[in-house]
Amino acid sequence: MQKLCYGIGEKRQRDQAEHIGERTLRLLEEGRLIEEKLKEIKSCPKPCMDGMVEINISPEKTMKHNCPAIASNCQYGYQMEHALNCHISDIMPKINIPRRHLENFREEKQVEVLAEIDKWPARGFLIFTGNTRSGKSFGAALTVRKFLKNRNRNRFDRSTWETAESAGNSVLWCTAMDIIEDREIAARAKRQYFLVIDDLGGETDTPVGQAALRNIILKRHDMKLATVITTILTLPEIDIRYGSRVTERLIEDIGKGSMIIECSDASMRNSAVI
Ligand SMILES: [Zn+2]
Repeated sequence: MQKLCYGIGEKRQRDQAEHIGERTLRLLEEGRLIEEKLKEIKSCPKPCMDGMVEINISPEKTMKHNCPAIASNCQYGYQMEHALNCHISDIMPKINIPRRHLENFREEKQVEVLAEIDKWPARGFLIFTGNTRSGKSFGAALTVRKFLKNRNRNRFDRSTWETAESAGNSVLWCTAMDIIEDREIAARAKRQYFLVIDDLGGETDTPVGQAALRNIILKRHDMKLATVITTILTLPEIDIRYGSRVTERLIEDIGKGSMIIECSDASMRNSAVI
């Protein structure tokens, strides 16, 4: 009796195994079919409302999938892009970026400086030089915005947006004056992955302050962190104020990541953005 029961159990197990095997094969086949059909979609299958496409697997079965051809000029892509821009605009004030720069962001316009910013790999130094009111800080704000936006591997997938938020935690925006006045900011400025030093040279001129800024720049160079600097100082003036070791580090990796952007066009401030 006991043996019989055992035998039935075995048969059931075998049947089940066959059943699972068939099911697996069918799923694999469906997956291959879906992949093939998705590859055939090269442009937006209008109308495009939710970023999904319907794939016919068999006459009686269709499945919805993420559209492989979403672009900014799709209706759905456009909405997502806009929503992501708004999401990032919400993050930016939280990381201390002055609101006056944020108010200058206008969507869907391109400016020359953007093409320059695009070349910077968010590694080493990016220095914005130029007179006061030439849009240097605004350029720095654009760079941060781009950094946050690029952290999203798929900007059309809302579930990945929190990466922009966590990227926000690795950004510190401060003025050179903040650094010399606040020990805590100075400490964070040394280790934060992405640092903006706004208005280098605008701080009170003291040996202690210069030493603090010098240490931060040298340390960040050693750690290969991303540092954006805005300054009205020229390189020779930086050399005199902070010493030649600083200028050497600032220019050492030019062409290999580090960049200097000269801002001279006052209109850059107003003609914004991304
Ligand atoms: Zn579309």
